[in-house]
Amino acid sequence: MEFSVLMSVYYKENPEYLKLSLDSVIKQTVPAAEIVLIKDGPLTKELDDIINQYGDKYAGLFRVFSLEENVGLGKALNYGVQCCKYDLIARMDTDDIAVPNRFELQIKEFIKDNELVLCGAQIAEFEDNPQVINGYRKVPLTQKEILKFSKKRNPFNHMTVMFRKQAILDAGKYQEMPYFEDYWLWIRILQKRYVVKNIDKILVNVRAGAEMLDRRGGLSYARASYIFLKATYGLENNYDVYGCRYNYAAEEAEHVQITAGNTSDINQLSGSKYLQSNMAKVMQEISETKNKFLFIGTPCQVAAVDKILRKKGIREDCILVDLIFHGVPSYNMYKKYLKFIKSALGLITVDEISFRYKEKGWREIYIYMADFQQQKEYCQNQSKDIFYKFFEIGHCYMESCFECNYRTTSAADLRIGDYWGRKYKNDKTGVSMVIAHTRRGYDTLSHLKLNGNVKIEEHGCNDYYAVQYPVNPVKPVFYQNLQEELAKENTDLQAIADKYCSRYFLYRNFLGRIKGKVKNILNYD
Ligand SMILES: Cc1cc2nc3c(=O)[nH]c(=O)nc-3n(C[C@H](O)[C@H](O)[C@H](O)COP(=O)(O)OP(=O)(O)OC[C@H]3O[C@@H](n4cnc5c(N)ncnc54)[C@H](O)[C@@H]3O)c2cc1C
Ligand code: SF4
Repeated sequence: MEFSVLMSVYYKENPEYLKLSLDSVIKQTVPAAEIVLIKDGPLTKELDDIINQYGDKYAGLFRVFSLEENVGLGKALNYGVQCCKYDLIARMDTDDIAVPNRFELQIKEFIKDNELVLCGAQIAEFEDNPQVINGYRKVPLTQKEILKFSKKRNPFNHMTVMFRKQAILDAGKYQEMPYFEDYWLWIRILQKRYVVKNIDKILVNVRAGAEMLDRRGGLSYARASYIFLKATYGLENNYDVYGCRYNYAAEEAEHVQITAGNTSDINQLSGSKYLQSNMAKVMQEISETKNKFLFIGTPCQVAAVDKILRKKGIREDCILVDLIFHGVPSYNMYKKYLKFIKSALGLITVDEISFRYKEKGWREIYIYMADFQQQKEYCQNQSKDIFYKFFEIGHCYMESCFECNYRTTSAADLRIGDYWGRKYKNDKTGVSMVIAHTRRGYDTLSHLKLNGNVKIEEHGCNDYYAVQYPVNPVKPVFYQNLQEELAKENTDLQAIADKYCSRYFLYRNFLGRIKGKVKNILNYD
């Protein structure tokens, strides 16, 4: 049975690792009919030299294809799948080492069962020395176990799989899904009820050291993983999701509906938008829908949705999640701020914005925006950014936030926020504070815990009161004046900030210095 091996290499690959990997693919008890190597963008001279050497030495075996620019693994593999001559394709990563009878064992499975379309295996992980194994990644073996496992974690070790080209094309190939292109493809293969299996043998030794973690992107990987699992959870339970995205044309936050299983659009909801979200579009949909859904929003938005659901008698079918909140700044301030930043930096349009850009971890917050056409970016620490000054001080929240009924009450099943305070001060990845208000909320948390999707520790409610804001802020006496000045066309934001915020910051810095002195005297951190 003839087959292709598909590999994709990019400029960051270590030339020595590539050599070891190619040798392991060539020296097989059942060799491949062709090795298709995709060069994902320009490579270093060392990598090109190695590829040329192997191409010369094993002429006829290697077929090398070059992409003009680095497009990322998913796209490079899609291109590669098309380039493979044979219907059976073995995937291999360019820094891993296949065991000598890897292909022999996999081919046997395809001969045994001609309905089989995807066959993976177990892996052993090493750091530098392939002889020193640090761990294993065991995946389930049978179709039934794989299906069950896929609802919690990736059921295949992607670097071990051998698949049928036609099935991959039929399932829609690799699709844009940062870090999870392969997982998402397997889910679609499973949805089409194709026959799949894993062999209970280690067929690839995988390099899994610090470099791999680095390539996976640390914090961004953790975030993407969270979003993906949230989406998969929605898939499993067939829940639509309502959440808040940023509308770039209108320059405002708005709630939208993402239908169950739409894992690519769910990304739009990720990240806090420190603005009041426009609910006009979704309120009608919520009152008419018969689908189960998960709604995430501010406590007052959740209270409104809860009311509708109770009236319709379907509250028990839905999961409501609200956020821990001080308040949201008014659009008077935000629009003025955008104008201020655009004119100061020469931005024409804001094509990307992140109100919580976690460049240096989750505790230190940056605001980030970019105009792609002008190739201009703005990235500023919260302590120096004028929007954050207003947000932190709370002088220009929406009027209702000064008389909010939901500081210590909630209509949600779960309330989420950040676990500020000293308990997790050394944590680098981010810790959420989650409060279960209802049995459904508690069960949802238990479900996540059982699945091993998240690590959950239980603490008392005192932590909530210690680090959150359970009382309404005091509305400043100059609130109306401030809003009027912000709303006027020709007023200057910096001058308004100086007028209404500087005293507060002077006072806070003064308090900060006193606290610092007391800490030094008492010698605690
Ligand atoms: C305006 C605002 C103020 C906040 N203040 C605090 C605070 O003082 N203390 C604290 O601990 N946490 C606060 N949070 C919550 C915190 O920022 C995180 O959203 C929360 O910890 C969940 O983080 P996450 O990374 O899991 O999810 P995230 O990626 O942050 O997203 C959670 C969900 O929030 C929804 N969302 C985002 N922006 C809005 C919005 N403007 N209106 C309605 N829904 C929105 C989205 O639908 C998204 O699905 C605030 C959030 C917002 C939006
Ligand atoms: S603080 Fe209260 S009123 Fe303001 S957005 Fe949050 S829940 Fe609504």
